[in-house]
Amino acid sequence: MRQEFRISYSRVNTYLFCPYKYKLLYLDNLRIPANANITFGHIIHKTLEQFHSGKDQSYDVLFDCYGDSWRNDCFDDPQQIFEYYNRGRQILENYYQSFCQSTAEILYAEKAFDANIGKYRFVGIIDRIDKHLDGTYEIMDYKTHAEIWDQERVDKDLQLSFYVYACKNVFGFMPDKISIYFLSDNKKVYTKRSQIEIDNAINIAIETAENIAVENFAPDISKCYICDFKLSCKNSNYKSEDECKKAE
Ligand code: SF4
Repeated sequence: MRQEFRISYSRVNTYLFCPYKYKLLYLDNLRIPANANITFGHIIHKTLEQFHSGKDQSYDVLFDCYGDSWRNDCFDDPQQIFEYYNRGRQILENYYQSFCQSTAEILYAEKAFDANIGKYRFVGIIDRIDKHLDGTYEIMDYKTHAEIWDQERVDKDLQLSFYVYACKNVFGFMPDKISIYFLSDNKKVYTKRSQIEIDNAINIAIETAENIAVENFAPDISKCYICDFKLSCKNSNYKSEDECKKAE
């Protein structure tokens, strides 16, 4: 029987980072304070979701969506707001140019899925699913950070493996193209997934779900220095940001 307990990429990723962090975040309901990068990512995702869900996909509408999605909280000061706002404008300018040149049909933006893995629920949201003129499907994950991942990192990305699984098992098609769209550079990096890689990813998710189900939250203190809870967690040996920086 399917367990109503949900697992997702974020939950798996948090658990793999440190099981105790999973407990703090999802059982004790501690919150990671929002910061400029996280907020900016949400704004751009929301802008593109709103833009692609409407009928009028003109340049003006895209920037109306940006205005609707924008929020000033979680930035440090007016100068930072100004810099991020302009960065977002530039990203969307470049995005719109590529969008106009593309012949693909955007089937879904921010498409939620609810799949079964073993006896568990696995949920997530795929940023975009396109259908190309030749009938092939492409799934896409947006990234808004400035860093462009190398091919190896994209090839090993667990989230994309989960998305492929969801496409096959929930939406009923195998994506022909799989990409991460690095919006800051308007660049896509393509990858592939074999059945073995998808099975391995799902096994990691099931194993994680089983560990969570038996409340195995042993701390992994090897990454405390980069953890959001490094100064508040009882298992962390770090007492100041300076100590953490020295450990990097
Ligand atoms: S500070 Fe260390 S032990 Fe505590 S949740 Fe973070 S990584 Fe885990």
